[in-house]
Amino acid sequence: MIVNVSALYDKNCHCRHCEATFTTKRIRSGTLTMVKRDSDFYTIFTEQSLNPIYYTVNVCPECGFAFTDQFRDKLAPWQKQVVDEQISAKWTPKDFGHIRQLTEAIVSYKLAIYAAELTDQPHAVKAGLYLRLAWLYRSQENTEEEIRFIDMAVNEYELSYIHTDYLRSDKEMSEVRLLYLIGELYRRLEKFDLAIKYFGKALAFRNHTIESGIIRMAQDQWQVAREEYKEKKEQKIG
Ligand SMILES: [Zn+2]
Repeated sequence: MIVNVSALYDKNCHCRHCEATFTTKRIRSGTLTMVKRDSDFYTIFTEQSLNPIYYTVNVCPECGFAFTDQFRDKLAPWQKQVVDEQISAKWTPKDFGHIRQLTEAIVSYKLAIYAAELTDQPHAVKAGLYLRLAWLYRSQENTEEEIRFIDMAVNEYELSYIHTDYLRSDKEMSEVRLLYLIGELYRRLEKFDLAIKYFGKALAFRNHTIESGIIRMAQDQWQVAREEYKEKKEQKIG
């Protein structure tokens, strides 16, 4: 595979667990050409192997702690202890700091999800990891795994909405965007009643948000969900 190496650069990282320093690849912004964006914000580029989501997770080669820039800055003593016991004690040194293939990107997310669950990171952080992992499976056309992780993502996004932790953990997330996304993920899980409920909550922001793009998407996907719901009901009767 030919990779446009100039799009990549090395970023210095500081492990939030063992304090080792290491480098990890990042994609230079502006070097990619977007092909399309799915209705749940998964963005596809001409060079899929340069998708920035391949490089979201920093994996410490020394101790195995995997984290993203959204993780809390510091680990509490109990968190350090659980990482020591459950991750570092079992870790065989492996470097994720080079160009990643899809399978390595998938492994990096699984490591970060495990670390996030063990150290009780915010729901918004866990949700983002589950959703990006689902996207990687989508790119592989592995629908079963994609759906499994969308299910986990929407559970965490719902908890994030209830506890409002997205306000602190995810700079790009607003309430209307989150409501839309929960609706869209439920639609993809064919839980149409919940999808319609959340699209409705998003549409309630119609006159008091500057995110008109999200409102348009919520209108469109609400319509799609209603039609799919009707079809499903008719199938059951027929
Ligand atoms: Zn470390």
